[in-house]
Amino acid sequence: MLPNDSDISKELIFFLKDRLGINDTSIFLDEYNLSNKEENLIKEFIDLKSQGFPLDYILQNTSFYKDDFYVDPRVLVPRPETELLVDYINGLNLKAGMKILDAGTGSGCIGISIAKYNPSITVYGIDYSLDALEVAQINKKNKLLDNFYLINSDWLNCIQERTINILVSNPPYIAPLDPHLENLKYEPIKALVADDNGLKDFKTITKQAKNVLSPDGILVFEHGYNQSMNVENILIESGFKNIYLMKDHQSQPRITTARLA
Ligand code: GLN
Repeated sequence: MLPNDSDISKELIFFLKDRLGINDTSIFLDEYNLSNKEENLIKEFIDLKSQGFPLDYILQNTSFYKDDFYVDPRVLVPRPETELLVDYINGLNLKAGMKILDAGTGSGCIGISIAKYNPSITVYGIDYSLDALEVAQINKKNKLLDNFYLINSDWLNCIQERTINILVSNPPYIAPLDPHLENLKYEPIKALVADDNGLKDFKTITKQAKNVLSPDGILVFEHGYNQSMNVENILIESGFKNIYLMKDHQSQPRITTARLA
């Protein structure tokens, strides 16, 4: 589905303000004489938008957890519901020296938003995609954090046993033939889609998490609105306990937490 015209014009106004410093009044009063370069920029914008290209990629900027992050098509545009993962973890009684792992960090927005508000803990952002790690590195550099580290790893393969206190992940969870993918064609497919009806990466991460987490460790997953029962069963099969489900702003079951003890 393409965005409708009124969405495009709202976003165009935003874009013009961002790129050309044109203010609302001059747009509406038609007072502004566009240069050729500016006109081309606008044509390109309308072209990209009418193909469904996300505004955040055009601006190379997104807002997440009250902060700005660099994004481009090498990573997903963070979704508002993913902020709830950060909210949950930042609301825990985190002790100095704790280690938190953000598995499938993408732009780094989850890990960085935890590291920023908890300077006495260490956060590791891991990703299999070197492209994604380059984006996360840009964000890490922009934030000047010294407690956020990036690691290239196929899920938890490179992580030592029993070293992590909290593992958080928003893995790919969309089923390969899900019709929603039609609207997500500019985002990296590997960050969105998982085999086994979207459940494959929950299974892999859960099995590995059992070894990587400390005995009192916590696992925090974001999942699809209709996957909570499947995710709960995957966790139970691996011996996780104290499983809690949280809803997102649309009252959809979206986050599951579990403990080893
Ligand atoms: N929540 C995202 C969406 O609906 C999917 C993110 C993911 O697969 N991890 O587009």
